[in-house]
Amino acid sequence: MSEREISSAVIRRLPRYYRYLGELLENNVVRISSKELSIRMKVTASQIRQDLNNFGGFGQQGYGYNVEYLHDEIGKILGLDATQNMIIIGAGNLGQALANYDFDRIGFKVIGIFDINPRLEGLAVRGVEIQMVDTLEQFIKDHEIHVATLTVPKKQARSIAKQLETWGIRAIWNFAPTDLHLSEDVCVKNVHLDESLMTLSYNLRHRGKEKYSY
Ligand code: ATP
Repeated sequence: MSEREISSAVIRRLPRYYRYLGELLENNVVRISSKELSIRMKVTASQIRQDLNNFGGFGQQGYGYNVEYLHDEIGKILGLDATQNMIIIGAGNLGQALANYDFDRIGFKVIGIFDINPRLEGLAVRGVEIQMVDTLEQFIKDHEIHVATLTVPKKQARSIAKQLETWGIRAIWNFAPTDLHLSEDVCVKNVHLDESLMTLSYNLRHRGKEKYSY
């Protein structure tokens, strides 16, 4: 089966498998049955088998899954076995917080942080100096970068995203509270924090009506 046919719901579940398997590894668990994994993850065993069958299975009848192998394989499917250079555009509170966070763990290395505010120029966040945004095009040309994190205000987000696209950025992690309209060649993952909090608000108001938090 080609990757194109994998449903987005399956892809969304992969990081969670990866996380649980990582925790099992930390606890020196060598193998696990789909039943045990399903109990821990609160999904059905058949869901796990179906999901993993999309990529060839990985389990053995009567043995279950080898935790390390499955963890590594899911990591490869997610592309975590290669380091990705990442830039952050917008070094406000959120941009700086993200720049401070350790995404190297999963292979994303922040190599550039950009802002329009000259007062931020030269300020180092986790060892990376904030640069002025007018140097961004050249920076992208000089480095191998496919991923950009967008933490600029809503008004600026679309035009910056379009520029990033023309400069060769292929993936945008968008925290600006707006939808970006880019060609299909650019992957966009929106993280709209307000909207996430609004769904929490809904859950609080309608307590117990939504069963799972993922
Ligand atoms: P945050 O929203 O992350 O808490 P903030 O409240 O400090 O940050 P915002 O107004 O949201 O500020 O802007 C986020 C950052 O984006 C700011 O540091 C701002 O200077 C920067 N910014 C605004 N316009 C641009 C632009 N065109 N290019 C690059 N950075 C920009």
